Amino acid sequence: MFNKKSLAVLFIILMLTTIFTNSAIAQETPVVHSQPIVIQGAMDIEMQDMVAALKNPKEITYGGWTFWQGTIDKQPVVISRTEVGVTNAAAATLLAIEKFNPKAIINQGTSGGHDPELHRFDIVLGQKSINFGKFKSEHADLGAGINPEAWIPEDVSLRVGGKSEYFNGFAGDPELIKVAQSVIDSYKQGNVVTGVIGTADEWNRELDRIAWVHENFSTSVEEMETASAAQVAAAYNVPFLGIRILSNSEPQGEDWDPKAGTYCQEYVLEVVKALDQTYLN
Ligand code: SAH
Repeated sequence: MFNKKSLAVLFIILMLTTIFTNSAIAQETPVVHSQPIVIQGAMDIEMQDMVAALKNPKEITYGGWTFWQGTIDKQPVVISRTEVGVTNAAAATLLAIEKFNPKAIINQGTSGGHDPELHRFDIVLGQKSINFGKFKSEHADLGAGINPEAWIPEDVSLRVGGKSEYFNGFAGDPELIKVAQSVIDSYKQGNVVTGVIGTADEWNRELDRIAWVHENFSTSVEEMETASAAQVAAAYNVPFLGIRILSNSEPQGEDWDPKAGTYCQEYVLEVVKALDQTYLN
């Protein structure tokens, strides 16, 4: 059916197809020489300064999520724009882990104060981050009204090592916290404390609601991503830390200020440099 010549042509076509397919795959898969540290920010004002600080940046987009690969002080770093909210944060974290195999993840950016002691531009290192948007309610009859204070908070479930477990928040990695604490003196815009980062797709301005969440979840601040990213990192056992600056505080009557995005990145860059010296070697 085939003569020698047509078989040879067929063989060459097959070879070329294989070569082109492989090089297409190689182009999509980022080249990673050693494990990077992933730093996440939801919006441009929360990560663009860090992208600017990268040496040899390379931009890669998967779906709606963009990553910038590069180095800071010889340390491989991937900056991730997670976009806003818990679903975006989970998707971006899953991509970060599967595509870049990070040795640690830092989720950082702006937040709103819950702790009445904290002021705008103070920074909270997340000793824990918790989803404060998961509730169930008891039955109430039609017309009985809505009673959010009676809603019952629920832990989030996650399968770890094949076993489904419930988590009352996710602990920040103690080693990462230690390194972050070691550069506190470099931060001049406010205080740096450890505390609880509360996450939900909510922006709360009712002082009674803020006080209720602060009392029931011990939250220092609220934002929309950290606990969601922490949950995905926990499933892969990747060391994780949330670092959140107050860009606004309703209890203090301090309005949102975008400078917070810059200040937080400045501090996080100091943390990354300190990681390069200690943790990552
Ligand atoms: N409404 C726009 C922008 C939201 S700003 C949108 O939905 O796209 C919300 C971002 O700022 C989130 O990424 C969140 O993490 C952070 N944030 C800052 N202060 C906050 C607050 N007081 N409550 C909730 N999120 C806050």
